[in-house]
Formats: sequence, structure tokens, C-alpha cells
Amino acid sequence: MNERDYNIETLCVQAGWTPKTGEPRVLPIYQSTTFKYDTSDAMGRLFDLEDSGYFYTRLQNPTNDYVADKIRALEGGVAAMLTSSGQAANYYAVFNIAEAGDHVIMSSKVYGGTFNLLTATMKKMGVECSVVDPDAPIEEINALFKPNTKCVLAESIANPAVVVLDFEKFANAAHSHGVPLIVDNTFPTPINCRPFEWGADIVTHSTTKYMDGHAMCVGGAIVDSGNFDWEKYADKYPGLTTPDESYHGIVYTQKFGKAAYITKATSQLMRDLGSIQAPQNAFLLNVGLETLHLRVPRHCENALAVAKYLKSHEKVAWVTYPGLPDDKYHALAQKYMPNGTCGVLCFGIKGGRQASIDFMDKLKLICIVTHVADARSCVLHPASHTHRQMTDEQLLEAGVQPDLIRFSVGIENADDIIADLEQALA
Ligand SMILES: *Cc1c(COP(=O)(O)O)cnc(C)c1O
Repeated sequence: MNERDYNIETLCVQAGWTPKTGEPRVLPIYQSTTFKYDTSDAMGRLFDLEDSGYFYTRLQNPTNDYVADKIRALEGGVAAMLTSSGQAANYYAVFNIAEAGDHVIMSSKVYGGTFNLLTATMKKMGVECSVVDPDAPIEEINALFKPNTKCVLAESIANPAVVVLDFEKFANAAHSHGVPLIVDNTFPTPINCRPFEWGADIVTHSTTKYMDGHAMCVGGAIVDSGNFDWEKYADKYPGLTTPDESYHGIVYTQKFGKAAYITKATSQLMRDLGSIQAPQNAFLLNVGLETLHLRVPRHCENALAVAKYLKSHEKVAWVTYPGLPDDKYHALAQKYMPNGTCGVLCFGIKGGRQASIDFMDKLKLICIVTHVADARSCVLHPASHTHRQMTDEQLLEAGVQPDLIRFSVGIENADDIIADLEQALA
């Protein structure tokens, strides 16, 4: 299908797998680790990256690639790949262009797993990370760049702080220093925000969240806009612009053009680190994607109703939701995601940490789970769950108030969600 002829809703349903005559209407699961060739030479050419084709599912699998291609179309990129998790997506996205001795810059308001990945695990691998408040003036961001800075990483809507990124500020800072901006677009999804239209060069996803939408499969994706000119900064990205000795001396930018970044991530990182998504999971992810355009607006509609309700309740201390007109990030949300933000909001109960815990224990319909962004409403109290080891002081430093409840509003009837909140607050 020619994706330019269709709206994003149609791409959700039909992009990716487009059967030819006589082929299955539904995306097949290629449940096979391996692929057959008639001659030794035919297979050899695949290993030389001379021909494209499948040989072993640790590197690539057709089911995965059809689903990656749908996500690519939704984001408006040129190439994409699936990974086994959102963590693997962010790891590969950065490690594909930053290695030992390099430096990266990251927004301080990102998912805890991403924060650890960059500041602890990748630090052990020799990649240094500077962290900056996403609300900092551009001068402060500019001051962090060094000659060995390789990328800037941020989230379009931060999990759990629901901070909306000023894309243009971050893209300007990155591009004026000749490095790409990587944006984790998990929370708004391409239904509400398309980071490439605002200067992002690479987009990552935890498909575990809204894209799957049903809390069935952990997964991730990386999409390349094809807009970053690696050759222009060839000295900075030798992995893309000089011969890869582990592939018979091919130069990714010369051989693959706009697909260079994703081809390198597949042929080096997937080959050596192996964080492939299971084809079964990719199939289920695709089922989720077919209704993404229906679910995301409903999540947002319900979240706004719930945010307004909580805001007006006397026992609620505070509510953060960028969809609320008086929210600190409402103006940025209006600019970058005018149709809606996401279904996640944060709030605190008057009485602090213990009052928030007591409230959560009273909920019936809304469940306590370590998850966000699926069809079922759920809550998490970072101070007693994901950030349990921290004191109140350390929590505040990490931007997590001790009473903060992260509320992922589902697609049930909003009246039923509010009724559950009502009885628990009572
Ligand atoms: C959940 C999440 C991740 C990590 O994804 P997994 O699929 O759990 O590995 C990364 N970024 C954001 C914004 C997330 O919400």
C-alpha cells in the first residue's frame, strides 16, 4: 500500500503486512528460527549483506519486520526494528552510536529504567551521561555538549512525571552541536505526537504500553527518520561511516543510505546482543496496533474526566495532567500534541505517603500493578513500589513526591472509574 495515500487510522489497521493475491489476510506468525536456501552461495551472500533476506531469527524475522514496518509508517520514518523490550530499544538506540569513551545528554525526567540504563549500566560500559532538567533554558543544555557527545535522549511525555518535552528546544540544541535527538515516544504514541515533525531524528518505543495496549507482551521498537546526516559528521560516527570489519569492510552509510542506522543496529547489535522480539509477541503487538487509534483518544478522554474530578476533590492534594488547562505543561501539550496527551496522570492524597497507600488499598475496579498504559485502569505508588529503597529526601531529589500516585486511566466507562475513586476517597 502507498502509505502517503492514507490517514494514520488506516495505517494502524492495514500498514505493514499487505498480502498479495492468495496470501493470508492476517499477518502470519513465522514461527521458525531458521530459513532455507537452495545453494550455499545464496546463503553466503546474506552473510555478506550482499542480498537481503532472512537466515536466523536472532537477527530478523518476517513477522517482526512487518510489524516494525507498521510502526515505521505510523511515525513517518524510513526504517524500523522491533526489540524484545523498551529497555532494549533505548539501549540499542544509544549504543548504536555511542561507545566507551563517548558522552550523551539525557533529560532528567525519564522512565526510571532508562535513567538507570544510562547513568549506571552504560556508565560501566564507558559511556558517560549528563542529565539535564527538560525545563532548563537552552543555554544550560548547550553548555553540556562536549566534543565526544554523540546524542541527546528525552521522552515526549515523561513517565511518570508527565512532563511534556519542548521538542524544538531539544532538537535545536542537539542539531547545533551536530548530534541526533532520540525521543522515547511511548506515552503519546504516534496517534497524538509525531516527534519527527518536530526535529527528532530517532524515535524509540516501549511497545509494552499503549501499542500492545492489553498488557500481554513486553516489547520495544526503534524508528529512524532518515533525516540525520551521518556523513556530514563522519568523524563522530565512524561506526556508520567507516568499514565494519565484522562485515567484510562494508560502510553502512555508503551501502544502505537512509537505512544505515537501523541496518547497523540489526546486523551488529541484534547479532551480538540478541534482544529480538518473539514473533508470537510481534503478532499480538500487531493486533494491539490495529485499534491504537481507537484506544488512545478514549484513554485521553477518560484521563481528562478523572483529572478534573480529582482536582475538584477536597481530599486530593494535587493533580498533574498536561491535558488540564491550568497544568504547567498544557501550553507545550497544545503545541506538540493538540489532539491529546496520554492516559497517565499523577496525584497525591492529603495526608502524605500513608494516606496515598491507604487510599490505594481501598480501590476495587482500579488495580495496583507495576504497569501503565493498558486497557485496564491501574495505579502504582512509586515510593512504596518502584522507588521503595529511597528515603523521602531521596525521592524528592529524583522528582518523585512521597505521596505521588501514578494513575494509568483505562478505557472502561469513566463514570465507573470515578465511582471507584469516590468510594475509596470516602
Ligand atoms: C516502560 C517504559 C520503558 C521500558 O520499556 P519495557 O518495555 O518495560 O522494557 C521505556 N520508556 C518508557 C517511557 C516506558 O514507559
